[in-house]
Amino acid sequence: MTATVLVTGGTGYIGGEIIDRLLAKGYTVHTTVRDAVKSEPKLRKRWPDAGEKLKVFSADLTNDPGWAEANAGCEAVAHVASPFPLDVPKNADELIVPAREGTLRALKFAHAAGVKRFVQTSSAAAIAYGQPDKDHFDHTDWTNLDANPPPYIQSKTVAERAARDWVEANAPDMVFCSVNPVAVFGPVYDDDMSTSVEMVKKIIDGSIPMIPNMGICITDVRDVGEAHVRAIEAPAEKVRGERFPTSEKFMWIEEMAETIRQRVPQHSGKVPKRRMPDWLAKFLALFMPEMRQIKGELGNIRDVSGKHTEEVLGYTYIPAEQTLEDTVKSLVEKGIVKA
Ligand code: NAP
Repeated sequence: MTATVLVTGGTGYIGGEIIDRLLAKGYTVHTTVRDAVKSEPKLRKRWPDAGEKLKVFSADLTNDPGWAEANAGCEAVAHVASPFPLDVPKNADELIVPAREGTLRALKFAHAAGVKRFVQTSSAAAIAYGQPDKDHFDHTDWTNLDANPPPYIQSKTVAERAARDWVEANAPDMVFCSVNPVAVFGPVYDDDMSTSVEMVKKIIDGSIPMIPNMGICITDVRDVGEAHVRAIEAPAEKVRGERFPTSEKFMWIEEMAETIRQRVPQHSGKVPKRRMPDWLAKFLALFMPEMRQIKGELGNIRDVSGKHTEEVLGYTYIPAEQTLEDTVKSLVEKGIVKA
C-alpha cells in the first residue's frame, strides 16, 4: 500500500490501534502528538520497525503550527485526537472549545492539503443523550443539547455537528464520515490508558467496593480500529456522510463483574459482589467526581446499536465477554493491576 494517512492523536488508545493496523497493511502513517520531542520515542518503541513509514508531527488542537506539515501528502485523515478526561471540568468550554475548534482546524488543513477522505472519531456521546424517554438508539439519533448533558457529551456532539456543517458548506467533494464508539475496552499497550479502560481497572483492583446500578455499551478497541480502516478504504459512495456507531452490546456493570469472575477467575479476587444502593451512589456523588459522572446513569438503559456499522463495513464485532476477558488479562500482563 503506497497511500499516506494522517492519524491525529497517535499517543491515544484508539489512535494507536489505528496506526497499528495501517502500518501492518503497508500504509505510510503521519501522526500528530502535542509534543513530538516527548512522545516520538514512545511511538518508536511501539513500532520499532516503522522507520520512514511513520512520521510524527507536533500539532495541538488549539493552534495552527504543525497541521499543514502533518497533512502534506496525505490522501485520508483519521481525526482521533480530542480531550477525554476522567474528571468533569468546572467550565464546559474547557472541553467543547478544543473539541470543536480542533476538529475544524484538522478539517481546514486537511482540505487545504487536498485530502480526499476525512474520518472523524466522534462518539456514542453524540447519539444517545438528552432523550429521557428513549433507551434504544442507532446511527440516525442525535444527542439533544437542549437537555444540557455533561461537558464531554456536549463536546463530542458539538464537534461532530460542526464538522458535518463545515464539510457541507466548504468541502462538498470531500468524503466525510464519523465513527461513533460506545465505551472502548480491549487490550492495552501500556499504563497510559484511556479513561474508558479505567472502569475495568477499577472493577478488578478493588477500588470500587460495591457495584453501582448502571450499565454501558461495550465495544472493542480492535473493532474501533477496524471501523476506521474500513471507513478509509471502502468505496466513497458507501461511506460518504455516514455515521458508524461501534457497539457490541449493552451490559449492566453487575453482568460485567460476573463475566470477569467466570472468564478470568484467577484475576477476580477483588471484583465486588454487592450492589451499591442508589441512595449511596447519590450521596458519594457529593464528594467524588467519578460518582458525579454516573449519578445520572443509575438504572438507565442506553443501548446504542452498532448493527448498521457491521452491515455497511462488512465485519463482525468481537463479543463483549471476550473483550472484557482480554482487557483484564492485558491489564494484569502489563503490570497495571495486581489482581
Ligand atoms: P486517549 O487515549 O485519552 O487519547 C486522546 C488523544 O487525544 C491523545 O493522543 C491526546 O494527545 C490527544 N489530545 C487531547 N487533547 C489534545 C490537544 N489539545 N491537542 C492535540 N491532541 C490532543 O483517548 P481515546 O480513548 O483513544 O479516545 C480517542 C478519541 O475517541 C477521542 O476523540 C474520544 O472522544 C473518542 N472516543 C473514545 C471512547 C472511549 O471509550 N475510549 C469512546 C467514544 C469515543 P496527548 O498524548 O498529547 O495527550
